Amino acid sequence: MNGVVRAREALAEALGALGATLRHHRDLGTAELALEGAYLLSPEEALSAQERALQGCRKCKLCEGRTTIVFGSGHPRAEFVVIGEGPGADEDAQGLPFVGRAGQLLTKMLEAPGVSFSRDEVFITNAVKCRPPGNRNPEAEELAACAPVLAAQLGALQPKVILALGSVATQSLLGTKEPIGRLRGRVHPYGSAVLIPTFHPAFLLRNPGQEYKRMAWDDLKLARREYDQRRTR
Ligand code: SF4
Repeated sequence: MNGVVRAREALAEALGALGATLRHHRDLGTAELALEGAYLLSPEEALSAQERALQGCRKCKLCEGRTTIVFGSGHPRAEFVVIGEGPGADEDAQGLPFVGRAGQLLTKMLEAPGVSFSRDEVFITNAVKCRPPGNRNPEAEELAACAPVLAAQLGALQPKVILALGSVATQSLLGTKEPIGRLRGRVHPYGSAVLIPTFHPAFLLRNPGQEYKRMAWDDLKLARREYDQRRTR
């Protein structure tokens, strides 16, 4: 293959990625985008650039009590993305999402037979990237301030399936006040992906009843089935 053909193919690939990103933003309701060179970055490069740009963010009052900004972690080309509500004390200290008790339960849920995801092959993040004081729920204006960060992450990742953990993340992503008990168990369209809500692992730790565990297990299996049908990699 000569150099001209390779360059043409690289350009075609870059334009294909640009088209997919723009369609994703359009599906999420974005009417205008300030186009910069970042749109031609690979997912790895785009996520790294976003994380660097986020350092020192003071767009909402959660910046005042945080130790670190917990951007998210996992595979930069994951088509399965997990979104919680916000970092807790362990996450704030380590700079990584879902590393405390709830995180250990999430890891077990993802790795369970029949779901069979390792943490390395999915991407895990939160609706807000800084720890709410005392582990309170993030407030509406904090979720709104951090929403563009999550939208940019999803634009780079282009997931096929989003697993939303708990009512705060689910209601914020879907723009609804419906309780998690009614939202879970269903597949919700979300741009070019689908969103599947389930209970937050912290809630499951507080409510060890078999009924909730069974419902969460059903949601995980549903998410896995959707992923197997939609994945392209
Ligand atoms: S929660 Fe998000 S918007 Fe608020 S300070 Fe942290 S990174 Fe910035």
